[in-house]
Amino acid sequence: MITDNDLYLVNVSDLNQYLYCPRRLYYLMFYQTQGLNYYLADGRSKHKNQSRRGGWYREIYLKSEKMHMHGKIDIIEGKADMIPIERKHGDSYFDNDEIQLAAYCMLLEDYLEEPVRLGYIYLFGTNERYAITITGWHREKVIETVEKIRNMSLDSIPDFTDNPKKCTKCSTSQYCLPVESKLLESV
Ligand code: SF4
Repeated sequence: MITDNDLYLVNVSDLNQYLYCPRRLYYLMFYQTQGLNYYLADGRSKHKNQSRRGGWYREIYLKSEKMHMHGKIDIIEGKADMIPIERKHGDSYFDNDEIQLAAYCMLLEDYLEEPVRLGYIYLFGTNERYAITITGWHREKVIETVEKIRNMSLDSIPDFTDNPKKCTKCSTSQYCLPVESKLLESV
């Protein structure tokens, strides 16, 4: 029997949100609280400006029912090999950014039916791109995170992040209210 969950495809960008903080994705998914704070707005405007440059395959939408994922790849460099490029604001990248890139590589190889073992993360902050070799660890983490997201439900809110620094950059903090909620919980 096919269930709604079988048909539910996870957006690749949500993997990044989940790995940043599962509670953040919970608010984005179930309360549609995709607010625009400075960090998000800044990233979006940089994406918009950068996308005017030519010479690449840009904004390619792919989906895979087999992997329960869909998403739009920013840019694909299409010379000898097809190499997805994920652009980020800031001057550093983290594991969650690598996992998002890995998911795009997996979507692309599913589409091309050939291996995609390399991707780039381009950082606006340094104006450099960094080659990321997609390993078994990345692939397992993608599959595991997709399953965790598919199992999220409205009546099960994830815990707060254990890294409060993340909350200062989080556009859902006005709904999550991490400081106030923790104070109330301790009463
Ligand atoms: S404010 Fe902090 S705990 Fe709440 S969703 Fe954002 S990152 Fe997670």
